[in-house]
Formats: sequence, C-alpha cells, structure tokens
Amino acid sequence: MTVLQPHLAAEVGVDESFNAEACMNCGICSAICPMDIPHLPRELFRYVELGMRDEVLAHQETVFSCLLCKLCDVNCPAGVHIADNVRSLRHYFNRSVFRI
Ligand code: SF4
Ligand code: SF4
Repeated sequence: MTVLQPHLAAEVGVDESFNAEACMNCGICSAICPMDIPHLPRELFRYVELGMRDEVLAHQETVFSCLLCKLCDVNCPAGVHIADNVRSLRHYFNRSVFRI
C-alpha cells in the first residue's frame, strides 16, 4: 500500500524552490538528456508532487546519475527548473536517507 505524504514537495524544496507543477509531460527533457534518464523529470517529479515518498526513494540511482548539465532546463517550454530540482532531491536524500 502506498502511503502518501502531502508535504513531500515542501520537504524536498525546503525553501519552496521545488517547481514541477507547470510540467506538461511533453517529453522534450527526456528526449535530449545525454544520460538518457527516462524518469526525469516527468515521472520522478510527479511522485514528489503527489507525496509518493517510497517511489521517490526507489529512484536514488536516477537522482544521482544526472549531470546537472541543464540541457533539459533550457529546452523546457514550461520553465521547470529541472537541474535545481534534482539538486534539491540530492539534498533530501542526504538529509533523510544518508543522515549527513
Ligand atoms: S520539458 Fe519541461 S514540460 Fe516537458 S516534460 Fe520536461 S519538465 Fe515537463
Ligand atoms: S540536467 Fe540531468 S536530466 Fe537534465 S539533461 Fe542534464 S543529465 Fe539529463
């Protein structure tokens, strides 16, 4: 059973910087990603927005394999700050999983 955490997006972006609400699920980011990361940002960010913590934590490899190159950012028609969101997710993993 999936337990939802309604405030997960606020926890991930402690300064309210996590922004994925405007995503239109167009797929441009996935198509141009040099790492061929299929889950970013559409699937993973949606899990954050929906408060699906277990699903977010299951994508640890995805979060840490991003190059933060921002190719996705500059081509996103919705202005989603994808790389900054990934950075926030890494901090979230550090705080809540690795306890550092
Ligand atoms: S390019 Fe932007 S709007 Fe399109 S799926 Fe990626 S994050 Fe969403
Ligand atoms: S910032 Fe990350 S997700 Fe975006 S294109 Fe670069 S490697 Fe892919």
